[in-house]
Amino acid sequence: MQDNLQKITSLCKRRGFVFPSSEIYGGWEAAYDFGPLGAEILRNLRNLWWKEFVTKRPDVVGLDGAIISHPRVWEASGHTDLFADVMVEDTITNKRYRADHLIEDATGENVDGSKPEEIDEIIQKNNIKSPEGNKLGKAKYFNQLVEVMVGTVEDAKTSAYLRGETCQPIFYNYELVKDSMRKKIPFGIAQIGKSFRNEIKVGPYFFRTREFEQMELEMFIHPNDAASTFEELKTVSKSWLIGLGIDEKKLRFREQAQKERAHYNKIAHDLEYEFPFGWKEFQGIHYRTDWDLRRHGEFSGQDFTYTDPETGEKFIPHVAEYSIGLSRLMLVLLFNAYSEDGDRIVLKLDPKVAPYKVAVFPLLKNKDELVIKAKNIFEDLVEKGISTAWDDRGNIGKRYYSQDEIGTPYCITVDFQTLEDGTVTIRDRDTAKQERITIETISSKIQG
Ligand code: ATP
Repeated sequence: MQDNLQKITSLCKRRGFVFPSSEIYGGWEAAYDFGPLGAEILRNLRNLWWKEFVTKRPDVVGLDGAIISHPRVWEASGHTDLFADVMVEDTITNKRYRADHLIEDATGENVDGSKPEEIDEIIQKNNIKSPEGNKLGKAKYFNQLVEVMVGTVEDAKTSAYLRGETCQPIFYNYELVKDSMRKKIPFGIAQIGKSFRNEIKVGPYFFRTREFEQMELEMFIHPNDAASTFEELKTVSKSWLIGLGIDEKKLRFREQAQKERAHYNKIAHDLEYEFPFGWKEFQGIHYRTDWDLRRHGEFSGQDFTYTDPETGEKFIPHVAEYSIGLSRLMLVLLFNAYSEDGDRIVLKLDPKVAPYKVAVFPLLKNKDELVIKAKNIFEDLVEKGISTAWDDRGNIGKRYYSQDEIGTPYCITVDFQTLEDGTVTIRDRDTAKQERITIETISSKIQG
């Protein structure tokens, strides 16, 4: 099973899902570029998520905030002081490692959130060395915010940060969104976008990268509603994932221990997936209390006190958060979908997620009447907004294999009988069964 990681990595490169970034320059650590088919999957996921958690919910609105904002935002949020992992350095090679990962590899113990002094003690007690077998230096904090210099004049450049989580623009824009959209508590603001973290340890593959995309929903609530909103977010987020075809047996919620939790969280439940490299988090439901609005209030001077229009009660809104990594979700979906049937590789992606919903082939590419008919069907499907692949290379068997590998749920073949009676062969990816249907019923068949 472990080698599914290798198989998926090679499939993703060979078929245009994911490329190592900057490969012609020798690559760039932990950066990946999403190729044509990967870009389609990401776009489908963004659209599906937005539809589910913004469009369908009258209590939620969207936002698209800046990646680089005022540096004070990150002081107020606590990230400049507290957004740090503990790292240790190999005293010979000077390579840096996340201390909790080295300890977990050596002892199986989860010590995420331990202080540097505690880490030093555990390393000494268990005589833990670097992966190269060398002595480790003293543990210290390493801040994960990525700094950037912005401005045009060399000596007037300002130091700022690439955002470490997408939600901060949601918090500092809370009042503007509430007032412009005439919202009352409870309501939510959602955002999809890039985040950046100077991760000490990256990988495997694009599981953990320094640049990644998050889909986040922040619900602004009365503190008394925290528990019920938290539970609601757990339920709706998990059922959305099951609706994408993820095997429920490979999903579990895990409550983070107090010292693991980020500085802004009072309660944090990770949703984990069973990867071949272990159970790993790919979404979090967090109760952030009034931390963010209170801190932005203190640092900016803005008063975020909310007055309930019915009861007159005054309070600073609390926040329950749903945060999921977009590329990490794509990795989950690839592992969930990858299967082999003899020498046939089949990516059993849910049709909603698959890059193409259907492929259209003329039986022979040198018969104009077949090609014209197949092109008409292709254009008709595209016109209906259905993402459709075209293939006229090689023989039909090879074309089926090729579409199976990229997860196309259906293949349509136009043959001589099509010209006579207006029917085509439709072949199902998962069962490999073929049947004849009329051209008019193609789109309803593939849209289920
Ligand atoms: P981890 O412990 O895996 O680094 P985290 O607990 O720091 O993650 P959160 O801050 O809760 O993660 O972020 C929410 C989600 O964003 C994660 O569940 C994950 O899907 C995604 N995410 C966080 N960091 C990364 C990263 N470096 N690369 C890819 N996705 C990430």
